[in-house]
Amino acid sequence: MISAEEALELVSHTAAPLAPRPIAPEDACGLVLAEDILADRDYPPFDRSMMDGFAVRLADAGRAVELAGEVAAGSVWNAGILPGQCIEILTGAPCPSSAEAVVPKEIVERRENAVVLPAAIRAGQNIARMGSDCRAGQCILEAGSVISSMAVGTIATFGRATVLAIPRPTLGIITTGAELAQPGEPLPPGHIRNSNGPMLAAMARELGLPPSPRWHAADDLAAIERALEEANGLDIVVLSGGVSVGAYDFVPAALARLGAEVIFHGVNQKPGKPILFARRGGQMIFGLPGNPLSSHFCFQRYVSAAVRRMSGLSAAGVLQGGLKEGLESKGFRPRYLPATAEASGNSELPWEVSILPERSSADIFQPCRANCYVELPAGPRVYGAGDAVSFTWISP
Ligand code: AMP
Ligand code: MG
Repeated sequence: MISAEEALELVSHTAAPLAPRPIAPEDACGLVLAEDILADRDYPPFDRSMMDGFAVRLADAGRAVELAGEVAAGSVWNAGILPGQCIEILTGAPCPSSAEAVVPKEIVERRENAVVLPAAIRAGQNIARMGSDCRAGQCILEAGSVISSMAVGTIATFGRATVLAIPRPTLGIITTGAELAQPGEPLPPGHIRNSNGPMLAAMARELGLPPSPRWHAADDLAAIERALEEANGLDIVVLSGGVSVGAYDFVPAALARLGAEVIFHGVNQKPGKPILFARRGGQMIFGLPGNPLSSHFCFQRYVSAAVRRMSGLSAAGVLQGGLKEGLESKGFRPRYLPATAEASGNSELPWEVSILPERSSADIFQPCRANCYVELPAGPRVYGAGDAVSFTWISP
């Protein structure tokens, strides 16, 4: 059985960034940019009025000047401004060529067809000069950066209808188990509800993936094979249940029959020891143990890592936090415990973590407020309050 570190390494090495493709800017938020984005022209593209007011010549400061016309955003005033004149101008409009300043509407005195200008007018006031934000050809966003919502606005400003970015992988979910009824359906005796299907679908959505197609197969080799066949075109397939050594655990056999290459099966960790990771061509396949907490943890640690890698993102960080309360850790496998991390106000250890009690790998009720998993190394140890432990955030 391999270690949890080796398993994570293997996932990161096996998964590779997907090929970039053109994507509409608004659909590219959160994706990794695969090209440099250059300004297509100077910005502002003309001397732009930053105020609603009057475009004036400096020599007319303190005088009553004739209101000779108006220029609104989207139009152009070509005639210039003669001495003794001003042009009414609106925010975003290009300044007439002879305008030396824009005087805000609020500080002039308006008469019939004239405007009395203040005595002090600063050269260039309220005019954003052409090219003062950036120059044509300047690189504004670099390949490899993560596209933020402001970057989307920037890309659109430069006139791009699409941008080259690494797409998010597609991910399908196959739940297995003869004992499972779908939420909302009648519960035959001996059945429980399929909670992993919705939970894993929600985790995929939290990672920004498109909605996951889902299948459910009873504990039946042919049914699992069929679902895997149907999921063939997806980048990632996540199976829940049926991955251990029980008589009805058919996932390993189904994968073998389809010629998938098993990269590991079994990891020295608690929860989620029976996890399986395989590949079929470029498709990553995860067999997660069915116990809800195991499924959650294994998705969080391993499936998320594959999603990040395929999306071109760096690996999620491991942080340090101080334990709010002491605890005794037993057992010979590293343990991953659902916990809440909050700002501690302590600059040396800025997070304080509280372990949430969980009764078993099936229990997601006590820990469902968790925002992180705390990792405790293998071996018995008594931890005191304030002791530092490693943790990773749940979801991005
Ligand atoms: P398995 O990994 O198939 O042996 O399942 C381990 C435990 O998890 C069993 O008690 C199952 O009933 C339960 N389980 C499996 N799949 C699900 C699921 N989709 N939703 C809720 N519980 C499940
Ligand atoms: Mg099962």
